[in-house]
Amino acid sequence: MNQNPIYKRVVLELSGEMMRGDPSYKDHLISFDFLRDLAIELAEIQNCGIELGVVVGGGNIWRGASVEEIEQTTSHQIGMLATVINAMALQAALNKQGINSYIASNIEIKPIAELCSHHQVIKRLKQKEIVIFAGGTGQPFFTTDTGAALWALKIQADVILKATKVDGVYSSDPLIDKNAKKYSQISYNEAIQKELRVMDLTAFSLCKEYQLPIIVFKLTPPGNIKRIVFGEDIGTIIST
Ligand code: UDP
Repeated sequence: MNQNPIYKRVVLELSGEMMRGDPSYKDHLISFDFLRDLAIELAEIQNCGIELGVVVGGGNIWRGASVEEIEQTTSHQIGMLATVINAMALQAALNKQGINSYIASNIEIKPIAELCSHHQVIKRLKQKEIVIFAGGTGQPFFTTDTGAALWALKIQADVILKATKVDGVYSSDPLIDKNAKKYSQISYNEAIQKELRVMDLTAFSLCKEYQLPIIVFKLTPPGNIKRIVFGEDIGTIIST
């Protein structure tokens, strides 16, 4: 591991599914064991002087597009509220560890979270607060991926760290195809040509356009975020 971090300001993207923690606890919407371990890990990274933003999804609670019984706009709005619930749970876990954090929401939801500018977010990061981004983009029909890409660009983050349950991007589904090959590095164009679904296309196009690197990695075992930030080659990096 390098002595100095290679990324100073990072956006960690956590899908709602990650909030369930151990896959054997499928009935749990949110695992507080998972949140406690994550909070400890985030504190360690912050103590290394890394500025940390965390974008949380809401898919453990609600996925707008998969609910057919109600009209889509409302369904997506419910999904965005689900991200706020996850953000609050993460903030509570951080509080428990004595870590200062701030929820920046893209939907108006006072007094829980505030709409705020990128200037305010950067100020909070510099004050050693972990900023939790809730509400996705604030617009229906988008996803947390796009929320992560927009925030990362707005605050000039060095990288998006997309936490998943697999250890990187593969040529095909490694659970189905034994010959699936893991990429340690791949370009935006190759990922598009090979139709590798790294993130949704709107988000991916933004990252490509503005050359924002994405690292897809497995969140467990604990310590992987720090390893990446200090330059260890785990996961898959998608860049130019
Ligand atoms: N959502 C939305 N706009 C956004 C972000 C999220 O409408 O900018 C809604 C969308 O319906 C989505 C749900 O919120 O299904 C949960 O977010 P997402 O699916 O991105 O969460 P994840 O799958 O990452 O947990």
